[in-house]
Amino acid sequence: MASGDGIQIPSRLPLLLTHEGVLLPGSTVRFSVDSPRNMHLVSQRLLKGTSLKSTIIGVIPNTRDPEHDTDELPTLHKIGTAGIAVQVVGSNWPKPHYTLLITGLCRFRVSSLLKERPFVLAEVEQLDKLEQYTTSGTEGLKAEDGELGELSQKFYQAAVQLLGMLDMSVPVVAKFRRLLDSLPRETLPDVVASMIRTSNKEKLQVLDAVSLEERFKKALPMLTRQIEGLKLLQKTRKMSPDNEKRVLSVRKGGVFPGRQFSLDEEDGDEDGDDTAALERKVHGANMPEAAFRVCLKELKRLKKMPQSMPEYALTRNYLDLMVELPWSKSTKDCLDIRAARTLLDNDHYAMDKLKRRVLEYLAVRQLKTSLKGPILCFVGPPGVGKTSVGRSIARTLGREFHRIAVGGVCDQSDIRGHRRTYVGSMPGRIINGLKTVGVNNPVFLLDEVDKLGKSLQGDPAAALLEVLDPEQNHSFTDHYLNVAFDLSQVLFIATANTTSTIPPALLDRMEVLQVPGYTQEEKVEIAHRHLIPNQLEQHGLTPQQLHIPQDTTQHIISRYTREAGVRSLERKIGAICRAVAVKVAEGHRIPKTDHTLTTENSSEQEDIQVAPPEMPIVIDQLALKDILGPPLFEMEVSERLTLPGVALGLAWTPLGGEIMFVEASRMEGEGQLTLTGQLGDVMKESAHLAISWLRANARTYQLTNMVGGPDPSEGTDIHLHFPAGAVTKDGPSAGVTIVTCLASLFSGRLVRSDVAMTGEITLRGLVLPVGGIKDKVLAAHRAGVKRVILPKRNEKDLEELPANVRADLDFVTASNLDEVLNASFDGGFPGATSARTRPQLSSKL
Ligand code: ADP
Repeated sequence: MASGDGIQIPSRLPLLLTHEGVLLPGSTVRFSVDSPRNMHLVSQRLLKGTSLKSTIIGVIPNTRDPEHDTDELPTLHKIGTAGIAVQVVGSNWPKPHYTLLITGLCRFRVSSLLKERPFVLAEVEQLDKLEQYTTSGTEGLKAEDGELGELSQKFYQAAVQLLGMLDMSVPVVAKFRRLLDSLPRETLPDVVASMIRTSNKEKLQVLDAVSLEERFKKALPMLTRQIEGLKLLQKTRKMSPDNEKRVLSVRKGGVFPGRQFSLDEEDGDEDGDDTAALERKVHGANMPEAAFRVCLKELKRLKKMPQSMPEYALTRNYLDLMVELPWSKSTKDCLDIRAARTLLDNDHYAMDKLKRRVLEYLAVRQLKTSLKGPILCFVGPPGVGKTSVGRSIARTLGREFHRIAVGGVCDQSDIRGHRRTYVGSMPGRIINGLKTVGVNNPVFLLDEVDKLGKSLQGDPAAALLEVLDPEQNHSFTDHYLNVAFDLSQVLFIATANTTSTIPPALLDRMEVLQVPGYTQEEKVEIAHRHLIPNQLEQHGLTPQQLHIPQDTTQHIISRYTREAGVRSLERKIGAICRAVAVKVAEGHRIPKTDHTLTTENSSEQEDIQVAPPEMPIVIDQLALKDILGPPLFEMEVSERLTLPGVALGLAWTPLGGEIMFVEASRMEGEGQLTLTGQLGDVMKESAHLAISWLRANARTYQLTNMVGGPDPSEGTDIHLHFPAGAVTKDGPSAGVTIVTCLASLFSGRLVRSDVAMTGEITLRGLVLPVGGIKDKVLAAHRAGVKRVILPKRNEKDLEELPANVRADLDFVTASNLDEVLNASFDGGFPGATSARTRPQLSSKL
């Protein structure tokens, strides 16, 4: 068979005895060599030889060569593969050994053994024809060649079918496709059997099949099995995408002469290797095609680099990140609206409007899973539970939650990462967040989007836009990754204190949900339902050890905190818990009689009986003073409104509503107006407007200057001051307060001490509506004000107020300044038209 045409292998071949793999003609296998005979073969034959002939050796499978020289030669398998050693790598560690890379050429049969030492040399008979592969596949066997032709045709078709199921865009698969058409058909059983997933035993069967027909018959079932397996996997693909990748993975290993590829994973020769592990991870990461290709490219570079090169670490880090990213890992949404409602209600007291809108949002998501929804943006003062609602949303959906603080970010690479060319470059916060949560559909809370900065390093808002825009974010490209990551499954929620500083383009993408501050009563409820139990738990205390009565809570809220949210309240409760924890921990040092934390001085404590404090420790006002110090806030309103020229306004700040005093004084001068207290332009304009209107109406309201003249500003300098000078104030809503304050100054009458007001004014004396009414009214309520004057057109906003606040306050809605003045002064304002018609209220303070 070996005679005549084709290339001849030498008739005497040194034999390599292997037990770990089967070399088939047409594939390349790596063998580890450490037994004495094989070692000699390498050192005395392969490494010493100079001709091509000396690199050809016979590989006899399934034979374990004994560890020691003296031992008998084991029985050899009769058939082997002649191969050409294409690479020899030697190492002395952990023991001397070589690694050979051998490409199989053809089968041979051992005719006789010539010598056994130092390595086995045998007389062999070549069994396969060794072609030069110049003929194309179509010219080999044909269907007309009888059964063999039919078999080969069947086999070819099955191979094509297998290829069709693989991902053609993977370069090696494409290469295999081309090879399939150019290889002679008779080589196919060997080539395919070495590439698909087959055991060593099966490969041995193929090797032993000397007749071509038998070889086709042996290899065909293996090929069909692989196809069936793949079909099954593709069916269950959705359920576990990782598996499919394992089968589809194509990695270096088996080789056809000159071209290396294998569809089989379990070749196991390089497994110990670090890069090989990384490579496996790359295949297992189930990333999209583009990212996969970049990874393969980087892997290739990595393999060529010495480890000491700084770039090695860079590339390694990059690949580590790529394989860690959750390209296709996600959690399953488990949304039950009824459960969500209960959960939101249990986690948060009040905030009904917000909870309703969040439930609507979730319900729509349930009905339409591919919702390219608006991004919710919770806007409200600090500590009103914006973050905490975001966390609850994640919980109701069963998703991972991650908070990304974007406040103060002024470099777009914070969001989008640094290009990898920079030293110390990193991915941006979004990609980092994804790595942290490990799934691609978390809830991301972008905290404080109103405090984005801007600098020379680019506008972070623009980068955020790309992240949030449902039209673009399915291919968000972080500069560091440099490949697109699909963010469309991420649920973004933003929080802000005010909408005014959110970049307009960003605001446009979001649905703003206002979260106003809480009333005193709501805060008491929140404290008792949530904050106190939470703090007790955090400090390892139980309700049996510490009791904070309702009126103590009320006292903390009104005297120790002045805020729209409950954060500082929570801190104060935390402080109480800490103090009590100390007492509980040192229990026996407390006198028996001391059931509250009173100001015991230490000298008395020396002769205390050893006994635990009586439980629960009840916090009364005295104990409160002991723990938190003297009250921080007084009910100061009435004390400050004792002179003409002072009025109380209501202001809105990102931190909630606030009361704001306006003070005015006058002195001899030339009609100058001085304004102090860090005012913005709008505020200054309001002051000028107010003076002009008052001058124009001086006669009606009997306003005079210092010497009783009819023009209040003639020969008079006026100074308007807005205390808390360190805080910048702007906005038109102080208009009515300035008018009232000046009217009081020019008329010498006192403004009622229990009135606060807000409203924009016009030159003609109309009162225009303003924003933030709920926050402002709550602030007035907190400060103990009894009457609130607001623009008529803001009447509708009063409906949002809690009933108890509405009941406590007397609201006066005004459409012009006449009505404002009338309601601000006891007994109305002289000259005001409605002075005689309004019912008069006397001060309750
Ligand atoms: P924000 O994000 O608005 O600044 P947080 O969400 O951090 O505020 O809330 C501060 C604290 O107040 C959290 O411990 C939160 O649980 C609590 N909290 C705020 N509002 C409520 C509420 N309505 N019910 C229960 N707890 C609340």
